[in-house]
Amino acid sequence: MEVLVLNFILNSVLGSGKVLSPQEMNVIEHNTQRIVYWNIGHKVTYLMYPIALIAMAIFVYGMYKRYKMWMQGKADDNRGDDLAQRMEGAFEGVFLHKKILKKGYAGLMHGFIFFGFLMMLIATAITTIEADTPANFLDGTFYKVFSFTIDAFALLLIAGIIMAIYRRDVQKPKNLETTNDDWYAISFLLISVILGFALEGIRIAITDPSFERVSFVGWAISRAIMVFNPSIEFLASLHKGAWWMHFMTTMFFIASIPYTKFLHIITGPLNIFFRKRAPLGQLKIIDMENLDEESRFGASEIMDFSWKDMLDLDACIRCGRCEDVCPAHNTGKPLSPKKMINDLREHMVDESTGKNKENGINLIEMRITEDVLWSCTSCGACMVACPMEIAHVDKIVAMRTNLVMGQGKLPVEAANAIKKMGKNGNPWGLPQNERANWAKELKITNLDETPDADFDYILWIGSMSSYDNRSQKVAKAFVKILQHLDIKFAILGNLEKASGDAVKRIGAEDVYQDLAKHNIVQLDKFGMNTVNGNVPKKIIALSPHSYNVIKNEYPLLGGQYNVIHHTELLSSLINAGKLNIDGELLKTVTYHDSCYLGRYNGVYEDPRNILNSIKGINLVEMEHNTEESFCCGAGGGRMWMEEPLGTRINEKRADEAIAVKCDVVATGCAFCMTMITDGMKAKDKDDDIKVLDIAEIVAHSLGLIEVKALKK
Ligand code: SF4
Ligand code: SF4
Repeated sequence: MEVLVLNFILNSVLGSGKVLSPQEMNVIEHNTQRIVYWNIGHKVTYLMYPIALIAMAIFVYGMYKRYKMWMQGKADDNRGDDLAQRMEGAFEGVFLHKKILKKGYAGLMHGFIFFGFLMMLIATAITTIEADTPANFLDGTFYKVFSFTIDAFALLLIAGIIMAIYRRDVQKPKNLETTNDDWYAISFLLISVILGFALEGIRIAITDPSFERVSFVGWAISRAIMVFNPSIEFLASLHKGAWWMHFMTTMFFIASIPYTKFLHIITGPLNIFFRKRAPLGQLKIIDMENLDEESRFGASEIMDFSWKDMLDLDACIRCGRCEDVCPAHNTGKPLSPKKMINDLREHMVDESTGKNKENGINLIEMRITEDVLWSCTSCGACMVACPMEIAHVDKIVAMRTNLVMGQGKLPVEAANAIKKMGKNGNPWGLPQNERANWAKELKITNLDETPDADFDYILWIGSMSSYDNRSQKVAKAFVKILQHLDIKFAILGNLEKASGDAVKRIGAEDVYQDLAKHNIVQLDKFGMNTVNGNVPKKIIALSPHSYNVIKNEYPLLGGQYNVIHHTELLSSLINAGKLNIDGELLKTVTYHDSCYLGRYNGVYEDPRNILNSIKGINLVEMEHNTEESFCCGAGGGRMWMEEPLGTRINEKRADEAIAVKCDVVATGCAFCMTMITDGMKAKDKDDDIKVLDIAEIVAHSLGLIEVKALKK
């Protein structure tokens, strides 16, 4: 009887062309099989495929427009290098959700939606292959597993959607604004999955094969439908209506991808694939030797950015993770990395439609203000947090470079520091020939005086430890440790100049290159360059900023060196059993990660290893630590600028240290030490909490120096 009824539906009620014989109906009843286009009929494809083609055409047109928009940017080299690594990174970023899952609730939510949605796409593809090719595999055990899996993942998708609604409508996190675009995406997903389940439930309610219990959600819906005892004709019509709605929703989705939030389905994986694979702390250089009249320094117009920068802008999903971690934003400065990226995106779109010209909107000042650009400490927290691998700092420095070199607009203190570094090789404008004065009584091999001396390491002092009294103590403490261990090292003395990290990030590329080239020549004199082969000699950098620039940026100017930070050396000596610290320190210590050592170069464990190897030290972590460490406020040249906007970043960091009730804040950076010390003073805690370099703590524990604050 059921066989006859179903045939009746297919033949007359739906008039769709597919007529099942009694034998075929037996298949439905007794075999585990899914008949595709059931109740719809294969002739529907005559209408279905043209509609699908139209949707695809709208999609392709939209993507082509985006592509043209990105390609207005400049060329960008090395984005197609090392395909295997790029694929691996894209796989980790997209399919393993490596960064996304770092945020508990939001990560899980996105994971549920992503994997649920992915499974729906796979199911649609499998069903299409089954329906419209000679392949025939949706039966037997495969069908059962397929059907069960699809139902399970669709449930996961619903769970993710509910979590998204709860997050946007109830939780409303501070840095997550919700637009109509977000609600469109959420509504589409919800409608689509509900229609899918409805279709399945109605189909099972009509055909009622027992094996469909595996489609457990559809089965439950079918039982609920049967409670109302509807007529088969009614259900069949309902099924057909739902099928068309589901189909049209899907087509609408495809067509809307380039024009809505769904764009990130395409731009996200692309952006992660083409991500910056150079070290995070490496900024591009300007070819100063081949400038012509048309050349602009940095970026003053959107077209000065590269196509990859443009793709970055289109990949942003406004998740707010960058804003959450931004020290500038969190201390009331006008900079929000999320807003900046989205303002740039708006500018890119308006540029392509001619709106910028029409409305007389320029990029810097009218779209992105100077205050926004000067607020950045280049701490890199935004880039590390961004699940789309967007490079914020590179864009900020490009715009600063244009302000500095193209327009001469920069804070007066920054201009002074640049001038002095250019003229005297240090930010205070002190005489270059006084650079090594601090070392006079320490019997250090000075290559400026004894160029033929034998050494294994060059100790890179940096401007802070060369001229600043407080930082000199760190250099002296470290020197004592090296001498205690009979390590053969030398300094460049007056041959060394500022590494150029700060001027580069302020935007004075010309001064940076002059300083870098000078230092490269000096280092090369002593056979340190590894460009032409392995060189066992290493540079030990006391400053994470010098460390980063020499290690990651000098290679772009031909200087390639083995560089380690002083904490890396101490840690490796401890691990090798060559440095045994017998002294005991009954102190509670917290370690402040320097952005340029930790986030930019991944050195998190070595400083902690050193502190943990000293008996008695109780090492405690501040609220923000390691990858999520909070900047001290001095990076990106901000060390040499006033902080007139918002509250002070260093005071916020000092608050975090005060909150963990420590006796000592340990650092491995002269900038951090200065900034946090000032923060402690501002909080009136400088008598209770001392800020010390790890080298000082080690030297004191070895009995080589006496640090008053560490005495019991
Ligand atoms: S830039 Fe990255 S972290 Fe910031 S909102 Fe966009 S996607 Fe999120
Ligand atoms: S680098 Fe740091 S200060 Fe600059 S935008 Fe990113 S998080 Fe904010």
